[in-house]
Amino acid sequence: MSYDRENIFAKILRGEIPCDKVYEDAHVLAFNDINPRRPVHVLVIPKGNYVCHDDFAAHASDAEIAGFTRAVAAIARQRGIDESGYRLIVNTGDHGGQEVPHYHVHIIGGAPVGAMVSD
Ligand code: 5GP
Repeated sequence: MSYDRENIFAKILRGEIPCDKVYEDAHVLAFNDINPRRPVHVLVIPKGNYVCHDDFAAHASDAEIAGFTRAVAAIARQRGIDESGYRLIVNTGDHGGQEVPHYHVHIIGGAPVGAMVSD
């Protein structure tokens, strides 16, 4: 799988288009989803060029993976939804419904999220 450097999240990372940033560190950028499905809907992306979860798991360093995983939980705590609960969604590939080909985790909460998968 090759990385498309013109995808929308690559442009956000390069600062070519704006985002509503909620968190940033050496490995991670997080910003509010442009079309939030619940009161909290944050997208967390690695700064490295990874297409999807499979690519990230196979090729990211241990430091990137650990930093990313800890950042997701820290952002949920920062947004005050760690006790009420939230859902993490990682859409991967065609059947997963992934629209943007830069790896990302959705943090969704602030209200009940509903059924895990619609039938
Ligand atoms: P996916 O289906 O790839 O898992 O989710 C992509 C997400 O990116 C969608 O929830 C969509 O609303 C969000 N999105 C698409 N374009 C933009 C954008 O330009 N800015 C922001 N903040 N979110 C975007």
